[in-house]
Order: sequence, then C-alpha cells, then structure tokens
Amino acid sequence: MFSYRHAFHAGSHADILKHMTLIHLVDYLQEKPGALTIIDTHAGAGIYSLEDGFAAVSKEADGGIFRLQKFTKELVNTGNLVPNSIQHYLDLIQAENIGEKLSIYPGSPFILASLLRPQDRLKLFELHPKEIDILRHNISQLKQAKQIDIYAEDSFARLKGLLPPPSRRGLVLIDPSYEDKQDYRHLETAMNEALQRFATGCYAIWYPCLSRREAADLPVRMKKIATAHNRSWLHTELRVENSPGERRLQASGMFIINPPWTLEKSLAESLPTLTKALGLNSGAEFLLKSFEA
Ligand code: SAM
Repeated sequence: MFSYRHAFHAGSHADILKHMTLIHLVDYLQEKPGALTIIDTHAGAGIYSLEDGFAAVSKEADGGIFRLQKFTKELVNTGNLVPNSIQHYLDLIQAENIGEKLSIYPGSPFILASLLRPQDRLKLFELHPKEIDILRHNISQLKQAKQIDIYAEDSFARLKGLLPPPSRRGLVLIDPSYEDKQDYRHLETAMNEALQRFATGCYAIWYPCLSRREAADLPVRMKKIATAHNRSWLHTELRVENSPGERRLQASGMFIINPPWTLEKSLAESLPTLTKALGLNSGAEFLLKSFEA
C-alpha cells in the first residue's frame, strides 16, 4: 500500500482520456448558474513537473500529452481540424505552463480548480502521507484555495457523508490507484451508497484495462449498479496498443453514471483522433457505448 505516486503517470494516455472527459462534464454542468460541488475522491499531488522527478523517469507523457500535442500541430499545419474537445483540453494544460513548452502537467485537482466559478466548491481526498502534504502546499498557492477543502481521509468511506451536496448539483470523480485489490470492492460499495443518497449526481469512474479479473469485471459491475438504480450510463475505453506480455498500461476506461447527453457526441468526435494520435500499433482502438434509462 502507498507505493503509488501519480507523478509516474502524469500526462499519460490514461490521463488524457480521464481529464478530457472530466473537462467536458464540468463545462456541461456549468451551463446552469447554480452552484456546483465537485468531489475528487483520489486527488494525488495536484500538479506535476514533466521535467524532473518521477514523470521524467517514467516518460509516460512522451506517449501521452507530448505525442498528442505534436499530432495536433501536424493536423493544423496540414490544414486539418482538431476536434474541439481535444483543443480545449490542450489549451487548459497549456494555460498551466509558461510559454509553449510543456514543463508542467496539472492533475485533476488543478484542472478542476482552474474551472471553478465563484459559486462552485471543490472537495479533494488524498490518503498518501507524502502526497497529501504536497497537495496541501500546491493548493494553498491557488487563488481558488478558499473554495477548496482537502481531506486526508479514506474517500470510499467518507463519500456518502458529503452527498447530496447542498445545491444538489454535483460531480464526483473516482480515480483510485487500484494498487489494493480491495479498491474494486470498495468502489462498488461506495457507488451503491452514493446513488442511494444522491441518485442524480454525475459520477465519473476511471479504471485501468488489465487482465486481472477484478479490472475486467469493473465495467460489467458498474453497469449492473447503474441499472439497479435506474440510471443512464456511458462507457468508453481507449487502447493505445495491443502488446501481449508488455507490462505497461495499454488501455484505460471511463464509466460515467448520469452522463450529459452531449458527452457521447463529443467523445465520438475526439476518440478517432486520440486513437490515431496515441496509437502505437494496429491494436489501437476505442470503445464507446451508452444506455439511456
Ligand atoms: N485523480 C488524480 C489525477 O487525475 O490527477 C490522480 C489520482 S491517483 C490515480 C490516485 C490517488 O489516490 C493516489 O495519490 C493515492 O494515494 C490516493 N488514494 C488511494 N486510496 C485512497 C483512498 N481510499 N482515499 C483517498 N485517496 C486515496
């Protein structure tokens, strides 16, 4: 437990799928003026250097954000269009950097903080003893810090206590590291409890596509939970390669409960470009399915 540090994965293909989806959800929910509460159950350190530290060792951003940036520049140079949601995501990442070179990658807390309107609130959970200190320090530097609460607690146990939010408008990002096999079971319990208390909330769950049974079963179990609570869902995956035997993460997915109607169209526009941009071999592909309750 607690060997996971998100800096190793900052700006990876999995971060791209997760953060692009997240940005779309926030944008949609902010179309109405009512206050929005956003809960990030697994926050990490908040923001990461791509030039030194863990990210520079793993170089996962090379196959992620740097590859996407290069691909989209080529699209523009050859007179082709970049899908809006990809451009919007790249612009938000760029805004955390000085100049054109990307030396910093914002994690979900910084992306979410940058999107907060004055009436919105952000609640961040982090359990790692080092990450929580770094997160607190990083968040304290932000002009939105007063709108953000940080909890050094187990979010799976605490989530239900924060639901429903006072404004009854809420988005929950659930992005565990799954380093503990129990995370899969805890996720199911937390989702059932959350939907009992706040059925209309928007829930975005990230997961890695791994051969271990619990990971492969996760979307199936989430569909069952959504169906049992009579909720709509959207399921998407992005695979950048199919290289059996390789240990690196080759695909990841997002499962959204109560997705906005605009999300499927936006992903249908962006996923073919993401697959082309980030694909490493002919196994690169995407999945996009939804169900309306
Ligand atoms: N959401 C972040 C982002 O997109 O930038 C990345 C988060 S990382 C995948 C998962 C984080 O959850 C790790 O920093 C880990 O220490 C933390 N964590 C693990 N179990 C937790 C729990 N039960 N409650 C809160 N945080 C937890």
